[in-house]
Amino acid sequence: MKVVVLGSGVIGVACAYYLAQDGHEVTVIDRQPGPALETSYANAGEVSPGYSAPWAAPGLALKAIKWMLMPHSPLVIRPRIDPAMWAWGLQLLANCTEARYAVNKSRMVRLAEYSRDCLDALRQRTRISYDERTQGTLDMFRTQAQVDHAAADIAVLERSGVRYEMLDRDGCIRVEPALARVREKVAGGLLLPGDETGDCFKFTNRLAELAAESGVTFSYGRTIRALTFAGKHISGVETDQGMVTADAYVLALGSYSPKMLAPLGVKVPVYPVKGYSLTLPITDAAGAPESTVMDETHKVAVTRLGDRIRVGGTAELAGFDLDLHDKRRATLEHVVTDLFPDGGNVSQAEFWCGLRPNTPDGPPILGPCGYDNLHLATGHGTLGWTMGAGTGRVVADLVSGRTPEIDIEGLTVARYA
Ligand SMILES: Cc1cc2nc3c(=O)[nH]c(=O)nc-3n(C[C@H](O)[C@H](O)[C@H](O)COP(=O)(O)OP(=O)(O)OC[C@H]3O[C@@H](n4cnc5c(N)ncnc54)[C@H](O)[C@@H]3O)c2cc1C
Repeated sequence: MKVVVLGSGVIGVACAYYLAQDGHEVTVIDRQPGPALETSYANAGEVSPGYSAPWAAPGLALKAIKWMLMPHSPLVIRPRIDPAMWAWGLQLLANCTEARYAVNKSRMVRLAEYSRDCLDALRQRTRISYDERTQGTLDMFRTQAQVDHAAADIAVLERSGVRYEMLDRDGCIRVEPALARVREKVAGGLLLPGDETGDCFKFTNRLAELAAESGVTFSYGRTIRALTFAGKHISGVETDQGMVTADAYVLALGSYSPKMLAPLGVKVPVYPVKGYSLTLPITDAAGAPESTVMDETHKVAVTRLGDRIRVGGTAELAGFDLDLHDKRRATLEHVVTDLFPDGGNVSQAEFWCGLRPNTPDGPPILGPCGYDNLHLATGHGTLGWTMGAGTGRVVADLVSGRTPEIDIEGLTVARYA
C-alpha cells in the first residue's frame, strides 16, 4: 500500500519506519530540511514511562498559582485572546479530578511502557545509538514536604505497576554521585529505575536513515497546505510543490495538527505548550548527572546526553510564539548551576524552545478519525520521545489492518465525542 506520513518529527519518523517494515511504500513530507527540527529537536531527553502522568491532576489550580509566584516559575501564562487556549485550559481543569487523573494516567502509562519495550527491541534489532543510557530517572526533592508528598505519587505508581525506589539523601548520592557536592540541597528522591535517556534528535535522524534504507522516501522543504477529500475519504495532500496522493495517510504534525484537520471537520484539542532547553558541553564528567535528575521544585530535568548536559523545562502558554526569553534561560541556568556547579559550561550552551503538542487530558491521539484512510498520530505533549516507538508500532498496525499489541481504548479521538 502507498502511505504518506505528514511530519518528520519523532512521531512521523517512527510511524514511517514501522510502516516500511510492514512492506508499505512510504513517503514522508516535512517543511523542514531534515528530520526532528521542530519540537523533537532538543527536548529533555527522558524516555520516562515512570514519569508518564497528565498535567491535569488534582490540586493543579492551586499549584499553578503557587508556581506562577515563584521567581523561577515552571509555569508561565501569557494571557491572550485565543479561544483555543481558553477552551483547552477549561478542558484541562475538568480533568483535574482524582477519577479522571487515574483513567488518563493509566492510558498514558499503557502506551509509555509499551513504547519503552518497542525501543528496547528496536535497539536490539538495529543497534541504533543516540547517546542512550538505561539508568532511570531520579525525581529529586529539596524539601521534607516534597518527600512527604511523594506518598501520593507512589500510590499511583503502585497502581500502574511502575517500579520505584524511595531514597534518602545518601541513596540519591549513590545513584547520582555529583550531588555529593551539593548534599545539603538534597532532602531525598524517588528513583524510577525503568526509565531511560537519550537524544531524540539523534534517534530520529538515525531512524530516518534506517527507514530510507528500507525504501522510505523523504520529501523535505515541502510545506503541506491542506488535505483534499471526497466524502469521508482523503484524496490527496496539497503542498507548495504540488499534489501527493496515496492509499493511506498518517498525520503527525505535532502542534500544527488541529489547523490541518479543522477543514475536514475533525476537532483535536491539541494546544502548543512551549518549553525551553539548554544544551551545554560537560566540563567535569564527575560533576555531571549520570542519568536524569528531575528537580521537583522547578520541574526542570537535567540529563546526561553523551558529552553534553541537556536541561529542559517550563510550560508556557503563549500560542505559537517561538521567541527565546532570557528569563526562561535564567531558570534553566539556575537549576543546572545550583545542582551541578562543576558539570558543564553554561556560557557555551545552546538555548532552544519547542511547542509540545498537549492534549488537555494527557494521552496522545492515535488512529482513526472518521475518514477511512486517515490515521492520527499527534498530541503527545510532554512525552512524545517516550511514546515515539510505541506510537509508530501501533499506527503501523492500524494502517496494516492488524490489531495493535496494546489496547487503544482511550487513545483515539473518540474519547472526546
Ligand atoms: C522543552 C521540552 C522538553 C521535553 N522533554 C521531553 C522528554 O524529556 N521526554 C519526552 O518524551 N518528551 C519530551 N518533550 C516532548 C516531545 O519533544 C514532543 O512530544 C515530541 O517531540 C513531539 O513530536 P512530534 O513528532 O509529534 O512533533 P514535531 O517534532 O514538532 O514534528 C512535527 C513535524 O511536522 C512538521 N510540520 C508541521 N506543519 C507542517 C506543514 N504545514 N507542512 C509540512 N510540515 C509540517 C514540522 O516541521 C515537524 O517536523 C519535550 C518537549 C519540550 C518542548
